[in-house]
Amino acid sequence: MNIPAQPGSTLYDSDVFRMACRQFDLAADLIALPADLRERTKLPKRCLTVTVPVKHDDGTVRVYEGYRVQHHLSLGPTKGGIRFHPSVNIGEVAALAMWMSWKCALAGLPYGGAKGGVAVDPGKLSRRELEGLSRRYMQEMIPFVGPNIDVPAPDMGTNEQVMAWMMDTYSIQVGNSVPAVVTGKPIAVGGSEGRREATGRGVAHLVRRQLEAMGIDPRESTVVIQGFGNVGAEAALAFREYGMRIVAISDVSGGFHNPRGLDLDAALAHVSAKRSLAGWNGGDAVTNEELLELPCTVLVPAALERVITPANASKLRCRVLAEAANGPTTNEADLILEARGDVEIIPDILCNTGGVVVSYFEWVQDLQSLFWTRDEVLAKLAVILDRTRESVEKQRRKIRCTRRLAALTLGIGRVAEAKAARGLFP
Ligand code: GLU
Repeated sequence: MNIPAQPGSTLYDSDVFRMACRQFDLAADLIALPADLRERTKLPKRCLTVTVPVKHDDGTVRVYEGYRVQHHLSLGPTKGGIRFHPSVNIGEVAALAMWMSWKCALAGLPYGGAKGGVAVDPGKLSRRELEGLSRRYMQEMIPFVGPNIDVPAPDMGTNEQVMAWMMDTYSIQVGNSVPAVVTGKPIAVGGSEGRREATGRGVAHLVRRQLEAMGIDPRESTVVIQGFGNVGAEAALAFREYGMRIVAISDVSGGFHNPRGLDLDAALAHVSAKRSLAGWNGGDAVTNEELLELPCTVLVPAALERVITPANASKLRCRVLAEAANGPTTNEADLILEARGDVEIIPDILCNTGGVVVSYFEWVQDLQSLFWTRDEVLAKLAVILDRTRESVEKQRRKIRCTRRLAALTLGIGRVAEAKAARGLFP
């Protein structure tokens, strides 16, 4: 299915942006969103493209392209991660910014969506080069970000250390410490307890709720996880706490499968020593494509978007598809899964919302300079996750649609409602 981009969006045209637009159109149709609100709710408000020169250890200077897209400004500052990955482009960043908007609105957070990125393989950079890239990207973004403007966070390929360098760069420029300019920072510089594990734990919490609703005992359940970065690894640890068996994991180098269960501690130790799962011997080697088709109770794509496609949607052998990644399922694959009717999808904007919810807590704590304990953070997170999940289930029953469309209609509806209430200026 080739879905044309709408007029005005040629800048962002790409498979993933068209996919996000298609989701929007389906949801907007379902709630009969008025024509005068559609395009302005859908299309990103503004973006900044920068070149980021980095001096490499061998003395050469290389220039990387970086982006930041702010999707809408109607509910507060914009919020969303910064991705360092070779496949980053402006269309992908725009789609990810749209999803951040619906995700934040769905969870009731006072933010618009944003996303940033640099097309680079951070695994090929030395620590000094990574620091140079992170600082220069933030330096270029200074007029575009700020605690009341746009608040970045980690995403694929970035982490707490990158956020600390960015916070430091911004603070030096302003002349005082501004911890609220980014979230996902180390606790030493104003990060929040519980932020590192929030996305993965949130995924596991919502999976447990889904299994409860299906009458499935977690201790009888198996899990397959694609992606063993921060989100995949933290989710795996939380699943293990619930007594679930992790039977396969993977990263960009490939995956490992053992139906009797994998030794997570050994996998984590290998990754921390070698930076990837390559060379681990904890199970039978599988490719990332094979991994998605392994039999399991819960399949967790926790890496890139668009991995569940028409080529594999009919071959998934899971009961629950928990979308820890943003946009892992194409529009066409969605239709196949809907027709199958035997896979319960926890859609991305619900499933991985734990990360941005605790980012919101971090921002609030930074602004008021009053910090909460880990137990307080995790308890508040669980309340928001359960409330958000219940709102999606209620919407699903009310308008009789998939869980994805229920979540999208709530998120999109709230953004549109805010725009309608504020009116159109001038
Ligand atoms: N990058 C994460 C996401 O896609 C977190 C964003 C944030 O915490 O602001 O949801």
